[in-house]
Amino acid sequence: MITIKSIEEVEVMRQCGRIWAAIMEKVREEVKAGVKTHQLDALAAREAKKRGVIMSFKNYQGFPANLCISVNDEIVHGIPGERVLQNGDIVSLDMGVKFKGFHSDAAITVGIGEISKQNKELIEVTERSLKEGIAQAKSGAYVGDISCAIQDYVESRGFSVVREYTGHGIGRNLHEEPQVPNFYFGKGPRLRKGMTIAIEPMVNVGGWRTRVAPNNWTVLTEDGSSSAHFEHDIVITDGEAEVLA
Ligand code: MG
Repeated sequence: MITIKSIEEVEVMRQCGRIWAAIMEKVREEVKAGVKTHQLDALAAREAKKRGVIMSFKNYQGFPANLCISVNDEIVHGIPGERVLQNGDIVSLDMGVKFKGFHSDAAITVGIGEISKQNKELIEVTERSLKEGIAQAKSGAYVGDISCAIQDYVESRGFSVVREYTGHGIGRNLHEEPQVPNFYFGKGPRLRKGMTIAIEPMVNVGGWRTRVAPNNWTVLTEDGSSSAHFEHDIVITDGEAEVLA
């Protein structure tokens, strides 16, 4: 069921999004060569505790950490651990927090030190594709309009969009209806004012196919090419969508 949020509910999600941003700012400052990914995970948990929010991903369907940290050819759902970040890595940080009963779920990808020209372009294209998708997200349009805009932009730049993982509705639950694919699948549901959705393009330099690591969580590109990921939560309005997180 697709839920329409009240003005009061949207305000809570807006506040949640601000807390998300404050925590992510702290984490991002520490994304550098020599840092182990579990250190970033612990930092996020400390910052969340200070602000009185719950980490949404911890134990979600059994996920063992607070953040999803996915490096280079890892697309999403990377588990923080002993991995030491290196100069030239690209790192996707995906985080969910819960405040007053509502979730924020968003992601960024950042490069460490000197990254390749191709990875730099990949990050730019992925972030821009998210903006292209958001630009289509208005009352009366369809979910498929968002999907189409993302896919068209990414493919026009020679990269590919992941098919097996999609964006989603968000609110009292981390994942709600509707699904928001990053590739054209048909029109899908109509967007209405007060719907809150997470749009999250996952973009690969090479092919769109994926594989799952033996840990049963980390999703990687099948061909070993780099992947980037950006995610925003938005609320549908009559005009331009508002970014909540
Ligand atoms: Mg998400």
